[in-house]
Parts: sequence; C-alpha cells; structure tokens
Amino acid sequence: MRIDVLTIMPGLLESFGGASLVGKAQQRGLLDLRVHDIRDRTEDPHRTVDDSPFGGGAGMVLMAEPIFATVEAVQPPRPMFLLGPGGRTLSQGFAQELADSDGFSLLCGRYEGVDDRVRTHLCDGEISIGDYVLAGGEVAAMVVIEAVSRLVPGVMGNSTSADDESFSAGLLEYPQFTRPAEFRGWEVPDVLRSGDHGAIASWRLAQSILRTLQHRPDLIEQRGGLTADDLKLLNKYAPGWDA
Ligand code: SAH
Repeated sequence: MRIDVLTIMPGLLESFGGASLVGKAQQRGLLDLRVHDIRDRTEDPHRTVDDSPFGGGAGMVLMAEPIFATVEAVQPPRPMFLLGPGGRTLSQGFAQELADSDGFSLLCGRYEGVDDRVRTHLCDGEISIGDYVLAGGEVAAMVVIEAVSRLVPGVMGNSTSADDESFSAGLLEYPQFTRPAEFRGWEVPDVLRSGDHGAIASWRLAQSILRTLQHRPDLIEQRGGLTADDLKLLNKYAPGWDA
C-alpha cells in the first residue's frame, strides 16, 4: 500500500514513518509512505507557501499554486484527501475502507487553512479526525495512517488481533489481562485461566456488551438494542449487570 503525504512540515511525518508499527511495515515492504514538502515547489527565494486571506481576517492561508505544482510533479496516488474539520469523520469502518485500497494521499493544511480551490479542484475528498481544531493536518495524517496501516494484512504480528477489537463488531473490546494472576490483591477473572475456550469466548462477548452498554450506549442502540441472546449472555457471565 502506498500512502503519500503533502505537507509543509515533512520532518513530523518522516520521524513518524521511521518508528514503531509504521516503520516496521515499511521495512517489511508492506507499506510505502512518501512524504512531499510543498515548499520544494515554490519559486521565490523565500519559499513562500502562504498568504493573507481575500476579504480580510486573521491568519494566513496556504496558497493553491505550490500544492498544485507538488501534485503535478509527484503524481500521488488517488484518491487524495484534504485533512480538515469539515471532512468525513474517521471511523474504524472508514479506516477499513482505506486499508482495502491500494493507496491514497493526504494533504495537510496549516494556519487558517488551504485555498478552497485545492479542495474543490484538486482533492477527491476530505477527512476529519473529530470535532475539534488542530493547528495543522500532520497529526491528523498520522492518526489516519496509524489506524489504516494496522489493518493492512501482515502489518500486525498476529493477523487475527484486529478482528475482535473495539468497533470491529460495533462493540468495545472486552478487558484484557496479563501476568501476574494476582496483583495487589486484584485477581484476574477465573474463567480466563480455566482453559475452557468456549466459556472464555462467551465471557468476553458478555464483557464487550457490558462495557459498551456502560460507556457507549449509543453503539448498542445502533445495533438495534440488546437481543435475547445478549441478555442471556449478560445474565450468565456478568450477573448483576443491570443492578
Ligand atoms: N480555520 C479552519 C481550521 C484550520 S486548522 C477552520 O475553522 O475550519 C489548520 C489545518 O489543520 C487545517 O487546514 C487542517 O488541515 C488541519 N485540521 C484541523 N483540525 C482538523 C481535524 N479535526 N481533522 C483533520 N484535520 C484538521
């Protein structure tokens, strides 16, 4: 999978791309992350990428010219998404759609934003990472890349570990524990040490449902509420859940 990022702060993405899961995926040839400095396509001695907004107002706006020039020179993979608060909000489902593709590109805004002709005439879509305002698209790009790349087959050591994670089935994940079995008097639930894989799976599903009910009831509602099977599981593996 190839992901290109267009930015005026390439250093941020370069250090990210060399570290951790994304770095390893690149070493193993599973991911090809290419970072392009928009400033490389400026023609003036000051390498200017921004100017004040028409109509007045605070701050600066990234200019269309060096961004178009970058895209025309490097031909980044399509679709190309602008990062911005007005875009389609990133979700696990959206990340999976991107992970199923061969590649895409991300354009990072800065300052007050980007000349709108970039959005309307150059980009194919816009991605937001949530309802808040960042100082630039670089951190948002890293969020997208990290969420997507761990879904690319082979990137995570254990390929099944993404399957029962939070949001994959519309539920939050069950609680996880590791050694020691008792820590400061707090014990790991017996069922997880029972070796009974059927019981473990049922307990985990019941805990997923319970956690989602407690922390994200909106997700339970989206699934159409609790089913008779959900209730049976909860009563058996999370007794007192509705207390
Ligand atoms: N003035 C703009 C915000 C500009 S923030 C507004 O009010 O909408 C500067 C840049 O940060 C944006 O161009 C965008 O690339 C990035 N950015 C800010 N918030 C973001 C978010 N929630 N998701 C994705 N990118 C974001």
